[in-house]
Amino acid sequence: MIKRSFFTLSQPRLIYDPVEPDPKKPESIPIPPNLILLVNEPLDNTRQALIKIGDAVKKGEKLCLYNNSTEYTISPVAGTLANIDTFLDDFGSTSTHLVIKNDQVQANEAESETYDLKDDIVSADQYLRTLPGAPPLKILAGDDAKINTIVITCTDTDLLSTTHQYVMHKFWEMLKKGAQVLKTITEVPKICVTIPENSNIQGGLDSILLFKTSLEYPSNLPAMILKDHLNLILPAGKTPEDMGVCFISAEAVVSLGKAYKTKSAHFEKILTVIGKKEARYRVQATIGTPLSKIFNAVRIQTNEQDRIVIGGPMKGFSTYTLDHPVQPDMDIVMIQDKNIIPEVSDDPCVNCGKCLRICPTNVPVNILVRYLEADQYEEAADKYDLDSCIECGLCAYVCTAKIPLFQYIRLGKHELLKLRADV
Ligand code: SF4
Ligand code: SF4
Repeated sequence: MIKRSFFTLSQPRLIYDPVEPDPKKPESIPIPPNLILLVNEPLDNTRQALIKIGDAVKKGEKLCLYNNSTEYTISPVAGTLANIDTFLDDFGSTSTHLVIKNDQVQANEAESETYDLKDDIVSADQYLRTLPGAPPLKILAGDDAKINTIVITCTDTDLLSTTHQYVMHKFWEMLKKGAQVLKTITEVPKICVTIPENSNIQGGLDSILLFKTSLEYPSNLPAMILKDHLNLILPAGKTPEDMGVCFISAEAVVSLGKAYKTKSAHFEKILTVIGKKEARYRVQATIGTPLSKIFNAVRIQTNEQDRIVIGGPMKGFSTYTLDHPVQPDMDIVMIQDKNIIPEVSDDPCVNCGKCLRICPTNVPVNILVRYLEADQYEEAADKYDLDSCIECGLCAYVCTAKIPLFQYIRLGKHELLKLRADV
């Protein structure tokens, strides 16, 4: 396997969006009549399920599919389980979606279930995985976890998003409390926080290290933070967790702080929404809200064949349905008018070399993509450095032939994981 060294980023310079100096409160989206929750486990008709259509659910109730299931979701409202069905993600992987019919009378009034939260990671992992920001409690509680550093990101990963920065500005005190909770329940010795280099947030973080990250994309990606601030090079095919580092978003830390204060979950997710012509909105929506409700609330007109992108312009992926629900880890959603969707093409590579010059990890993208197009995933990894890609999306951004390079890479990595799992 080839291992390429960092770092040779050349033009164009892409700058992260800063949050406004005095950001407005997000627009609050009403809780819809039906919420859609995803459980990361496929349905299995040979097993007796623990839940069924028609069941009453409480606000804050933990919902699992089967005895011994390790995956779960938490209901954000009191209501009735109206549907249970298979959910297919953009790679065709299956999980399960639950539709909760919201009991409108109780929606805003019902108290959320309280949990017996103890000062340990196992207890937090039992109830708090689906908090806004999706704290990586499963990783931190894993038997094999050897995490020695936690990085709290108050910086946004993709362009146009200001979600994490907004949370940092508005909830700095709760973020400090959440960081303290994190330290206590994980006992991880080193906790760091990233903030944008132009931020005027002042310290006050006790023993927590502050990293000021560059405003230039892709400085906020985990691999770059490891390199620039922790002096660690992410080896090909490895994750930050493999190196003992776990990343957690500012929103997840604030959520943990609130949850330990109230001994219950909350469900209001902050989202950056990019409308047509790049109009920007910030909303607060209950986890499980279909995106169509958000677009309606901020008066974005949607038409057939408009493209909905979950994520930002560099790393986002399209979804085929306006009913895609708000997820705990969803920071930004964009809608692109069907008439101005950036083109992709079937044209062949013209060997201009732009992708090679822009790639931060020196992946030979122009050759790699030929193997990916031919479904030769193992060869792509063994000879052409698929595993070294840090998924910044820059190659696709600059490609002269408009080849969807990043989509090929994501699909290639996904297929490779499946192949390796089958061995
Ligand atoms: S997405 Fe493209 S440019 Fe970015 S690291 Fe991967 S191959 Fe390189
Ligand atoms: S940027 Fe696109 S066209 Fe140019 S070498 Fe890379 S893959 Fe080929």
